[in-house]
Formats: sequence, structure tokens, C-alpha cells
Amino acid sequence: MLRLFTDFDGPIVDVSERYYRVYQFCLEKTQRPDQSIRELSKAEFWQLKRSRVPEKQIAFNSGLDEVQAVEFAQLRRKTVHTEQYFQYDTLVPGAVDALLKIQQAGIDLAVMTMRRVWELDYAFQKFQLDRFFPENRCYCLSNDYVKTRDIEDKPLLMTRAIAELPAVADCWMVGDTEADITAAKKHDIKAIAVESGIRDRTQLEIYQPDLIVRDLSFAVDLILEGKFSQQQPLYIA
Ligand SMILES: [Mg+2]
Repeated sequence: MLRLFTDFDGPIVDVSERYYRVYQFCLEKTQRPDQSIRELSKAEFWQLKRSRVPEKQIAFNSGLDEVQAVEFAQLRRKTVHTEQYFQYDTLVPGAVDALLKIQQAGIDLAVMTMRRVWELDYAFQKFQLDRFFPENRCYCLSNDYVKTRDIEDKPLLMTRAIAELPAVADCWMVGDTEADITAAKKHDIKAIAVESGIRDRTQLEIYQPDLIVRDLSFAVDLILEGKFSQQQPLYIA
């Protein structure tokens, strides 16, 4: 049996609109009435996120001062995972077809995400994705989980998955951040990074995944063509 772990936000769901709306809201709430600020365009904002520019710096770039930047970052953290903003999430083009292909090929499919149960359920309902992920193939955070940092929490989730799931001959992890790459590499799972999410290629390269590809479709095609397996190690940049 073969297994594919996929991250959720980045490979399957595009969160850029949600993040941008929250940015706009936080900027509006933080600015003083008389203050002139510079609202970033969505493209500018998303490029900053993809190059991993901290929230405080994004606040400075938008014309906020030091005190406001702290307030902005706090408000952003509090707001970005509230229910009213999840409606702005969209599907990554081609992601559902890629999931269908994996399912039809009989590859064991599991999702591994830093979403909480209710956040994952929300998207499962909205995009009809629960057909791909039975409950025992969903690795996410409980609703009351106290998050530390993704790069520490995700490998823990992977440890649990490896302990619980039946052993497989070959395994891949697809994800869009350093947390996914780190979780995979800690467990000797091949790490495929996708550029459809919240990190650009330069950021992904720092963590040395086995492969960097455009998106989940591309990753799935490579796996199904047998071009990327334990038996035939091959690096395609
Ligand atoms: Mg992600």
C-alpha cells in the first residue's frame, strides 16, 4: 500500500482572500481617524506573506507605527480564525481532480492540517471534501488545542499518525510550508512542497524538501507516473 498525506490549506484550499480581508479589517480598526495609511493591494500583501514577512513589518509597510503594529498583529491573530472569515476560502484549481485521481489509484489518503476540527468540518461541508477523508484519515487539532508553533505542532501530529496508521511501502507528504517539510523529514517521509500556498519557492528551498512543484495536481501526476518513489529516487527541481 502507498500513502499520501496532504496538508489542507495551500495544497487544497486557498486562504489568500481570507487573510487579505482580515488584513483590511485589522488595518481599518488600528488606524487613527486622522492618520494616512497605505493599504497594500492583495498581490502585494500576499507576496509579503509568501516571503514570510512578519505581521509587524506588514503593519509598518502599511503606514502604522510601532504601537499600532503590535495591536495590529494581535488583532490579526485573534481574527484570522473566526468563523465569519472562513467563507472567503476557495478551492485551489485542480485540487479536487487530483484527490479523485489519488482515490481512484487506491492510494491511502490522509489529511494533516493545523486546522481545528470545526475549521476542517466547515471546509469539508462547503467544498464536499469529506468523501475523500474518512474520520480515521483526518489529522487536525482538537477545538480546544493550545497551539504553539506550526513547525512544532505538525511533527507531533505526524508522530501520532505514524503510530496509528497501518504501515505502508511508500509514503509522501504534500504541503506548502516549512511545518509540512519538517514534519515529513523528521519521519523519513518524502516531502513534496507546493507553490500554491503561503510560501514562495525561495522560502521552501531553505527547508530542502525532496521536491518542489507547482501544485497538488503536479505532485499527484508525478506520484502516479511512478517518477517519484522510494525505489526510484529522483529529484525534479
Ligand atoms: Mg498549509
